[in-house]
Amino acid sequence: MKILVAVKRVIDYNVQIRVKEDGSGVNTDNVKMSTNPPDDNAIEEAVKLKEAGKVKEIVAVTVGEEKAQETVRKALAVGADRGIHVKADSYIEPLGIAKILKKVVEKEKPDLVFLGKQAIDDDCNQTGQMLAAILNWPQGTFTSKVNLKEKTLEIVREIDEGLETLEINLPAVVTCDLRLNEPRFASLPNIMKAKKKPIDQMIAKDLGVDITNRIQQLKVEEPPKRKGGIKVSSVAELVSKLKNEAKVI
Ligand code: AMP
Repeated sequence: MKILVAVKRVIDYNVQIRVKEDGSGVNTDNVKMSTNPPDDNAIEEAVKLKEAGKVKEIVAVTVGEEKAQETVRKALAVGADRGIHVKADSYIEPLGIAKILKKVVEKEKPDLVFLGKQAIDDDCNQTGQMLAAILNWPQGTFTSKVNLKEKTLEIVREIDEGLETLEINLPAVVTCDLRLNEPRFASLPNIMKAKKKPIDQMIAKDLGVDITNRIQQLKVEEPPKRKGGIKVSSVAELVSKLKNEAKVI
C-alpha cells in the first residue's frame, strides 16, 4: 500500500499578514513560511498507518518555487520515505494543482492520496475535490478519523450536522481535518536523516497540462479596522441604539 501526500508551503499561521502597499497581494518577503497545518495532519496519519504496518511507502509531493522543497524535507523528517517537488515559479490555482497531482498519481500509482482539507493562504478547499473528480476516484473530505481496510477505507467526516461515517473504495482521495491527529515534531536525528532521502524534481509547465490561472485577482485590502465597543446601561438603551444608530432592527 502506497500513500501520496500533498503538502503546501504557506505563510506560517502565527504570522500577522501584511498587505502590499500597491494592493497586489500579501507581503511574503522575510516572512516565516511553514507547512499548511492540515497537511501536517495528512503526513502524520500516513506515518501512523505505516507504523501500524498497513502502508509500505509514503511519498510527499509539493508544487511551488525552489524553497517549497523545505516542506517536503519536513515531511521526510517526520516519516515520509521519498519526496517529489514539482517546480512552479508562481501561484497556481487549485484546478492547475489538481491536474499536476493527477500526473503525479498516474506516475506513482498510489492507493491513497492524502491532502489537507484547506490551504490557509487561499482558503480554497478545492484541490482534493477537483483531484478526485478528474481521477474519477471516490473522495472523503474533512476527515477526522480513518480506518484502513484491505480494499476500502472507513472514514469519519466532520460535517455541519455532526459526524458522518463512510466506507469508500480504494484508490481514493482523502482530505484531512485538524482533528484527525496530533502531528509530531521532527527529532534532530530524523531531520539529519531526511537530508539523505531522495526528492525527485519535475517542472510544472513540462507536464503537458493546462495550468493557466482563470481567476484575475483585482485587489487585496486589509479588512476595515474594528471600532471599539461600548457598554449600555439598559436593554432599552440597547434597543434604541440598534434601532436608531446601527439601524439593524
Ligand atoms: P486548497 O484547495 O488550496 O484549499 O488546498 C487544499 C489542499 O490541497 C492543501 O491542504 C494541500 O494538501 C493541497 N495543495 C494545494 N496546493 C498545493 C501545492 N501547491 N502543493 C502541494 N499541495 C497542495
